[in-house]
Amino acid sequence: MGRIALLSFHGCPVARLGEKDTGGMNVYVLQLAREFAKQGNHVDVYTRFHDPEDPQVVDLCAGARVIHLKAGPYDTTKQDLYQYIPEFLNALYSFQRSEGLEYEIIHSHYWLSGRIGLALREKWNVPHVSTFHTLAKTKLRARAGERESDLRSATEKRVIDEADMLIVSTEQEKDDIVSLYDGRRRAIEVVPAGVDLELFQPMDETYAKGVLGLSDKHVVLYVGRIEPLKGIDILLQSLAMLEEGSDTRLLIVGGSLEGDEELDRMKNMAEELGLGDRVTFTGSVSQTDLPIYYAAADVFVLPSHYESFGLVALEAMACGTPVVASRVGGLKTFIKHGESGYLIPWRCPDPFAQRIETLLANEALRKAMGAAARTKALEMSWSGVAGVMLECYAGLMDDYWESAAGA
Ligand code: UDP
Repeated sequence: MGRIALLSFHGCPVARLGEKDTGGMNVYVLQLAREFAKQGNHVDVYTRFHDPEDPQVVDLCAGARVIHLKAGPYDTTKQDLYQYIPEFLNALYSFQRSEGLEYEIIHSHYWLSGRIGLALREKWNVPHVSTFHTLAKTKLRARAGERESDLRSATEKRVIDEADMLIVSTEQEKDDIVSLYDGRRRAIEVVPAGVDLELFQPMDETYAKGVLGLSDKHVVLYVGRIEPLKGIDILLQSLAMLEEGSDTRLLIVGGSLEGDEELDRMKNMAEELGLGDRVTFTGSVSQTDLPIYYAAADVFVLPSHYESFGLVALEAMACGTPVVASRVGGLKTFIKHGESGYLIPWRCPDPFAQRIETLLANEALRKAMGAAARTKALEMSWSGVAGVMLECYAGLMDDYWESAAGA
């Protein structure tokens, strides 16, 4: 295949992860770009400059690079970014012209990039694939109190109708596109996400606890962005219910230790529940350091109200750690209840506490579930994901050019 343009307007693949607007999508785009290149393709990821210190072009590996384009102030949050799309497009066109680049396919990530993809498709006359990662209407349905603009839903609808192909991570996302947005089922391909199996590997638990300076009998872990949709309040409440609670430390990895409203809210809640000395908020941790956290944990817990995929759970599994998670979205596609962890259908603390307790009290069960979790994760490499996606691209390009020739 020729050159592939990945659009990730707000999610820079080389940004620090685990902060307010940086998480799974950044990882997804980074891993895809690398794997596409390893499989012999040329990939350019276009993203917005979010840090004046960054160079314009960052090489990820031979054949893949990130191109930062100036569009709006560096520190703009994603809620305010829509207005800077024209500036981004102009910068993209001028970069493309200056290097004489031509692309065979465009793959946009998230609705903002989807909007950019529509414009590029018209200009370049090549097929446009889009992946939303989250959908406004699904998010709104998952949790009362979430706010999403009408502009977002309307733009998603346009992308759903006008993109040549949508790639989603789960059958549920496909169903949501059809039922909530009246989308065309045949234009949607389901390709589950992957995990970096070189980075995320099992490690001795005692060693990992030692490295992190943890002397507690048990460690329960959460990793991810700190936001209400993740249900961290449920996790805190379930920790307060544990009978073995006094010997158990909860590590909450992610967020920013300063000026992060939601993290402060969770800290206050931990204090109010009398858990102040048993909960550690580490702030975000570099992904290369995460395996040690997953390995130190007896149990990984993800009580999200919604997860379109839930990469952190798969990373924990790749490290051989059993997972207790909400039975939502992507999580129910790769966690097998009673085998590699537990899936909880209710968003309330009691059932989470019960399952965490069961695992903490039973080392043999923990080990067996951890081994099953690792086995499942081994099926889900990023190289496999990229291979399937390249096949989707190839099929789409055949159809696209065939219908163009027939027109
Ligand atoms: N992550 C990280 N450091 C942190 C917190 C998270 O590297 O402190 C990474 C984590 O390894 C995972 C991603 O951020 O790959 C979060 O993805 P996930 O799909 O779980 O959640 P999302 O951000 O998409 O809601």
